[in-house]
Amino acid sequence: MMATLRCPICGKQFDPETTDAMPFCSRRCKLIDLRRWLDEEYGLPMPRDADEDEEDEWKVPEDEE
Ligand SMILES: [Zn+2]
Repeated sequence: MMATLRCPICGKQFDPETTDAMPFCSRRCKLIDLRRWLDEEYGLPMPRDADEDEEDEWKVPEDEE
């Protein structure tokens, strides 16, 4: 009666009772998943905001001598 789960990160089958990082097989995989989320959050281009920021910057006069 081995109830195994498959880790969504590495695909390894593991015993849920041997990990404290559910639903992952290990803390390492849990961290990898967390990083993925963060990467997506900061890596995604946000067209609307980016455009607004750029316009503001272009309005700033550069030669003030
Ligand atoms: Zn894993």
